[in-house]
Amino acid sequence: MGSQPKLTLLFTREEISATVKRLAAEIRQDYQDKRPILIGVLKGSFMFMADLIRLLDFPLEVEFIRLSSYGGGKSPGKLKLVQGVQSKIKDRHVLVIEDIIDTGLTVTFVLDYLGKKKPASLKLCTLTDKPPRRKVPVNIDYLGLTVPNKFIVGYGLDWDERFRHLPDIYTIEDEGEDEG
Ligand code: 5GP
Repeated sequence: MGSQPKLTLLFTREEISATVKRLAAEIRQDYQDKRPILIGVLKGSFMFMADLIRLLDFPLEVEFIRLSSYGGGKSPGKLKLVQGVQSKIKDRHVLVIEDIIDTGLTVTFVLDYLGKKKPASLKLCTLTDKPPRRKVPVNIDYLGLTVPNKFIVGYGLDWDERFRHLPDIYTIEDEGEDEG
């Protein structure tokens, strides 16, 4: 934990705020009369979710789900659900809220899990997307910001539980690490 990684500013809080506003306007347009369930994927999505729903002034419900992965590393190994949804999903309009889509494996697992519960509709909103590392195709309905092929932190996103609190988003390089 002693290492001092190098942070480089990628998106300012103003850029993030403008993006959240744009996404909220798109979501409002499509969901204002549908009483959707917004399901955040913990932990990384909590800050985005909090800002997003404050801009959605229509009836909706909020849920969170949490996964754990075996195998470690930056991307998940084998995924397991550790906290599922409490609400009834069947025949409801469900919008999954993600912080980042990287390989696509996590959100594919989540969409599969929710899809089996027969929602009326199932869509995906993500604050950030990192397309170069995709392993499975993902259809993103509401896309915030596209990020380069680097590890990012801040605005809820962590690096070994560090840097989640930062209001801006940074790319991070660990000293000695040489990742493309
Ligand atoms: P996936 O590879 O399954 O699409 O993404 C899995 C998870 O890896 C994300 O939900 C996120 O927790 C983590 N992740 C992937 N890329 C990054 C990144 O650049 N920064 C951070 N902080 N987490 C990431």
